[in-house]
Amino acid sequence: MDLSSLQSIQKQLASRSISSRELTQYYLDRIAKLDSNIGSYLHVDAEGALKAADSVDAKRAKGESLGALAGIPISVKDILCTRSMPTTCASKMLDGYMSPFDAHVVERLHQADAIILGKTNLDEFAMGGSTETGYRGPSRNPWNVDRTCGGSSGGSAASVAAGLAAASIGTDTGGSIRQPAAFCGVCGLKPTYGRVSRYGLIAYASSLDQAGPFGLTVRDLAIVLEAISGHDHRDSTSLQIENEPFAEAIEKPIAPYRVGFVPEHLDSPGLDPEIRQKLVEAIELYRKLGCEIVSLDLPHHRFAIPTYYIVAPSEASSNLSRYDGAHYGFRAEMDKNRGSADSPLVAMYKRSRSQGFGSEVKRRIMLGTYTLSAGYYDAYYLKALKVRRLIRQDYDSAFTRVDAILGPTTPTTPFELGAKKDDPVQMYLEDLYTVSANLAGIPALSIPMGTHSNGLPMGLQLQGAPLSEAKLLAIANAYHREISYQPQIAFS
Ligand code: GLN
Repeated sequence: MDLSSLQSIQKQLASRSISSRELTQYYLDRIAKLDSNIGSYLHVDAEGALKAADSVDAKRAKGESLGALAGIPISVKDILCTRSMPTTCASKMLDGYMSPFDAHVVERLHQADAIILGKTNLDEFAMGGSTETGYRGPSRNPWNVDRTCGGSSGGSAASVAAGLAAASIGTDTGGSIRQPAAFCGVCGLKPTYGRVSRYGLIAYASSLDQAGPFGLTVRDLAIVLEAISGHDHRDSTSLQIENEPFAEAIEKPIAPYRVGFVPEHLDSPGLDPEIRQKLVEAIELYRKLGCEIVSLDLPHHRFAIPTYYIVAPSEASSNLSRYDGAHYGFRAEMDKNRGSADSPLVAMYKRSRSQGFGSEVKRRIMLGTYTLSAGYYDAYYLKALKVRRLIRQDYDSAFTRVDAILGPTTPTTPFELGAKKDDPVQMYLEDLYTVSANLAGIPALSIPMGTHSNGLPMGLQLQGAPLSEAKLLAIANAYHREISYQPQIAFS
């Protein structure tokens, strides 16, 4: 069996050299054998997956028409609502929660005849960069289990890297698809804001959140993106656009595209020298392929982290106010001997929220409540919105000169589990290269660019103008073709 790309899996299914049931069983067996060590899944739906696989096999046997992902086993980040499985956001607050509906992305996967294996681990409510803050414990990097797999969609990235799913769906608010993709040696794409419906994606920061694919190859990203994107009236920010044939677009010639880079980013002292070296080689490679190389300045980029860490917590504090112990989710036991002056209702809210949320989520709620409070709104939130606009304008002017901006996804290779858990500022600084794409709403992807001398993966990031995914995927694919990239699956 060749499981190194969706295309090869599709061929084997189409020629019936393997059935969808056999394939699904193969992944389920691997999960049973390996995932206790990785912790990529919070919930595995073996029965549902096998049933779906049988139905695809039956349709195929009858010669019925099949969806684009027919029979392909996929994992889904546990922040996307599923009717047939719990949706917890890795939070005690939503322990055991069953959504009455499927997220738009999940509906699309079903329509495409994909097999959903289960729900993957994340940082609680997607707030974090290491998949360590969830109430069920961390996920681990399949290439070195003492290291982080990144986050917040770490479970999704790890499931693909360890061959526990053929592809996965994650979400990216400030880097949560790209950073774990880079850390786990897989491909990941954050689409243009509004390309993929957020209906049923549990909100962290609504103006930044976007769902997107993980896969072993650039073509895998294109295939899955095609299946999940497109207009949806239930998300008011969903764009009125036609779906594009992304998989077809990736083979298009990339000369004479112009590829930009920001010298200041490559010369930043925090950037690992081997990552820097690979990026320099990538620039040379694009030059060789006939692209024009343009050096750029993004003057407001240095404000991206502070801007993001005002905008995202502000929106989070508002979005998470709904978890009050009454509507759904966790409700704390009442303390009969309580000595507080609070009314029973207020006491219930306080106890439920204190016990239901973990410390990182509480930190974000406090930060956001502060930046939105009457006395500080103008000084922090409003100012951050203005800087956000300047960051977007930097990109707008850059994309009049280039077709894509190349750079690192992360400053370093995966750090040790626990290393930054108690130092939030260090953790936030990890997002240096990723958050600005979310602030600007532009598409960005991360693809593997080889292995560091420490044995860990390194990621190349490409950012593009709004709705330029087809071009971005073609540019990424050309790089992989040129370096004769071979997808790697851990424990194979
Ligand atoms: N690490 C960033 C944060 O903690 C990004 C998370 C995300 O993209 N969901 O907010």
